[in-house]
Amino acid sequence: SAEPGSPYRVVLLGASGVGKTAFASIFAGAADNEVCEKEIEVDGEPATLTVLDTWDSETDADGAQECYMQTGDAYLLLYSVTDRASFLRASELRITLRRFRPAQHTPIILVGNKCDLVRRREVSVSEGRACAAVFDCKFIETSAAMQHNVWEAFHGIVQQLRLRRDSK
Ligand code: GDP
Repeated sequence: SAEPGSPYRVVLLGASGVGKTAFASIFAGAADNEVCEKEIEVDGEPATLTVLDTWDSETDADGAQECYMQTGDAYLLLYSVTDRASFLRASELRITLRRFRPAQHTPIILVGNKCDLVRRREVSVSEGRACAAVFDCKFIETSAAMQHNVWEAFHGIVQQLRLRRDSK
């Protein structure tokens, strides 16, 4: 394989109800596990990802939160474009994450999910983009319901992990 070493651990973070489970289900396909490991092809090269969606940021103990903050190789930081509180929560999570992952090069993508719900939108595309710029991370809007841009988010994570790998 062109991808040496163990699988990349991709952690889904975000407020309850933003679509983390929906993301993990799309990744998992038929096998609908809480932790799913799978090989995908990105830019013609295989990559193995383990996607972790076991942490509900609203309800879980702080210990679990810290554990996930420490174990990821990369993070998808989700909010719902229909829920401003979840957008604020994503900012808080980004700040917490920075404490555990001070390295600049830990790949993080800010994900504005539910972009299909046009009439319920509370967070604009430009607000999302501006937030990502402040936090020095990539940004993408997705719809797990429409399966729009979900794979692009996972591919973007792999591309960033490879950039980091290749610059070592
Ligand atoms: P979690 O708590 O972050 O895991 O969120 P879920 O994945 O359980 O999603 C919460 C609810 O939002 C569920 O009813 C999903 O079907 C719905 N949902 C998730 N993603 C989308 C999306 O992109 N568009 C729409 N319209 N609904 C979504």
